[in-house]
Order: sequence, then C-alpha cells, then structure tokens
Amino acid sequence: MPTYEEARSIVLESVAPLGTERVETGRALGRILAEDIAAPWPLPFCDNSAMDGYAVRADDCRGPARLKITGYIPAGGSASAVVTPGCAVKIMTGAPIPAGCDAVVPFEETSVADDHVVVKGRVTVRQHIRFRAEDVREGDVVLQGGTPLRPPEISMLASLGKAFVPVYRKVRVAVLSTGDELIELGEPPSPGAIINSNSLAIAAAVREAGAEPVLLGIARDDLESHTEKISEGLKADALVTTAGVSAGDRDLVREVLAEMGVTSRFWRVDIKPGGPTAFGMKDGKPVFSLPGNPVSALITFEAFVRPALLRMMGRKRVVRPLVKATLTGEVRKKAGKVNFLRVGIEVRSGEYFASSAGDQNTGILRTMVLADALAVLPADKTFFAAGEKVDVHLLG
Ligand code: AMP
Ligand code: MG
Repeated sequence: MPTYEEARSIVLESVAPLGTERVETGRALGRILAEDIAAPWPLPFCDNSAMDGYAVRADDCRGPARLKITGYIPAGGSASAVVTPGCAVKIMTGAPIPAGCDAVVPFEETSVADDHVVVKGRVTVRQHIRFRAEDVREGDVVLQGGTPLRPPEISMLASLGKAFVPVYRKVRVAVLSTGDELIELGEPPSPGAIINSNSLAIAAAVREAGAEPVLLGIARDDLESHTEKISEGLKADALVTTAGVSAGDRDLVREVLAEMGVTSRFWRVDIKPGGPTAFGMKDGKPVFSLPGNPVSALITFEAFVRPALLRMMGRKRVVRPLVKATLTGEVRKKAGKVNFLRVGIEVRSGEYFASSAGDQNTGILRTMVLADALAVLPADKTFFAAGEKVDVHLLG
C-alpha cells in the first residue's frame, strides 16, 4: 500500500499537460499560459508624465520660478510642444514628455497667474516622469509558460497588445457516482435513499481547479450499468468515480475498470480518511476511484485529483503550499497512516492557529464545511500537544 506521498507521486508521474489552444485575453482568467510571452515593445512605450502638472526644465527651477506657459499636452496628445528655457508646458498624466523637459511639477505645487506658472518648491531632474522601458524592455520575457493568469497577468498581456493568448486546454473530467442507494437532487427522498451530493461536490471541485466537469449521473450496482457509464466516462480526458471501491460484494468499480482495460496503479493508500482510493490509467487518461463517503471523496480529490488536473493543465505548482500552524488543542491518532485533520484556522499576530473543526469521523460532513484547512498529520506520530506546530494545506 503506498503512502500519501508515494501515491501522489504515482499520480503526478502518470499525467502530463494536454494540448494548448488560443483564447481571447479577456476570457483567459484562471487559464494557464502555455508559452513564454516576450514583450514586442517596451513599457512605457515613451517617456510620459506621471502627474497632471507642468513640464519644465529643472534648471529653471533652482529657486522660486515664474515660467511662461507655452503649450498644452493632454493625455493622448502628441509631444509637439517644446519646453524652451524659462517656459513650461501644461501636461496631463500619461501624456508624452515634450522635448526639452526633464521634470514635471504637479499642479498642487504650483500657482497660475495670467499665462505664467509659479513654481515654489524644489524640483529635481527626472521627477514625475515615467521613462520609456523602465517597466518592461522590448524583448523581455515577462510571463512564463505555466503561469496561471490572474488579473495582473491579463493586464500585462493587454498592455503588450496580446489580444489572444496560448493556454493549456481545460481538462474535461467525467464525474460518475455509483450506488443503488443514490437519488438525484430534487427527487423525493425516502428512507435509505441518499442524495447524490458527490457528483455536484466533485463537479464543483473540478471547476474550482479550472477544469470542466462532465456529469455522467449514477451507475447502479450492476455490471451493465457500470460498464455503460464507465465507457462513457473514458471518452473524457479524465474520469473520477465515487463509491463502490471498497471490498463490499457490490463494489464493482475496480472490476469493471480492469475489464475495460484500465491499468491499476494503486488501490488503497495509507491515509485517513480516504484509504480505499484507487488510481489507474487508460490510454494516457487518469482514472480516479474515490471512496463514496462525501468527506473522503472531497479529501481524496484534494490529495490526488486536483494536483493531477493542475498538471494536465500545465501548472508548475500543483500542490497547495504547506504552511505551519500551531495546534490550539491536543490531538491523538493511531500510528501507521497520514491523517488529514479538518481544522479551522485563525490568524493572530500574523501566525496561523489550527483548531479541530469538529468531530473528525468521516461521516461528519459539517466538519468539512467548517474546515478552512487540512492539517497533514504524519503517519508515525500518535500524539500532538497543544502548542505544537503542524503542516496544513489551506483550502480555497
Ligand atoms: P461506499 O464507498 O459505496 O461504501 O459508500 C460510502 C458511503 O458514502 C455510503 O454511506 C454511501 O451512501 C455514501 N455515498 C456514496 N456515494 C455517494 C454520493 N454520490 N453522494 C453522497 N453520498 C454517497
Ligand atoms: Mg456502495
């Protein structure tokens, strides 16, 4: 049985980025850049004013100065005016710096009488000018392939005239629930029936990872239904099933996967919750068989599926960073398995404090709802004192 780290390595070594596509920059938020982006021109493109004010020659302003206003350059205007000695040109933020000017004096530091401007304060050479290429030089690689596109990256792409960007294709993830006890949300509940929350939860987690879920509904606990749904699922880029993967006599998922040519890479991992997880591959496509318990399904998604999807979409960093948090109470566990403890996080004086989010029984969904993070408790340790620091993955 692989450990948590071993199982995750097996998963990550099995998958690779899918192809790429070009999308409009305005629709690229959250996508992963597929190529390095070099600047076709510098930023700023030309020297321009950082303030609304007057373009001057610093030499003219060594003491209190009275300068004749000889021109005006609005934002978007051209720098046809020239600043000659003893003169100033009114200029707006972003407007190109005219010849002869080596400083801009903001309106706030001036007063105007007739067609003259009076500058009282000190003026230093280069003040309030944004210089050509001070931000980005032409040819600079400003964004690297593998970068998730956030608003700042979108801003950079747009500033460099990139109307379309190469991004990794979204992974299409088939989501299949299994079990005779399941009914779909909206169907009338009855004793013994369980609402298929996993399909919606896993689909939401898929979307949150930036991928695209394809809902296959429910496979009933017979070979025919499993076979039909799983063959449908294998048409997507990845397949995630829940339930039916333990050792019960109605647990058919692994059997059907094997029949359909999915090569098993592991079944069962030394973790709690989520032990019965299985993972296999078919034709380069990953197949995750998660436990049915809604808490276990979400935690194993987080542990194995999310990193795999991120890698398939070109992300370099696929695992959430571990941060240290101080336990506010003691925690006991059995030796042998990594435990994922659902914790609430509080930040006090810049430090993380982790408190159990509630009953850690895997049947308790509410503890998952209340959790901000998963503390990763090492396999061999059994006791954690209050005040001890543990590793946590912050969720969301
Ligand atoms: P199993 O892995 O089939 O033994 O299922 C474990 C538990 O998870 C059982 O209580 C199931 O009823 C529950 N369960 C299985 N599938 C789902 C689902 N799609 N949505 C909500 N609960 C589920
Ligand atoms: Mg079942």
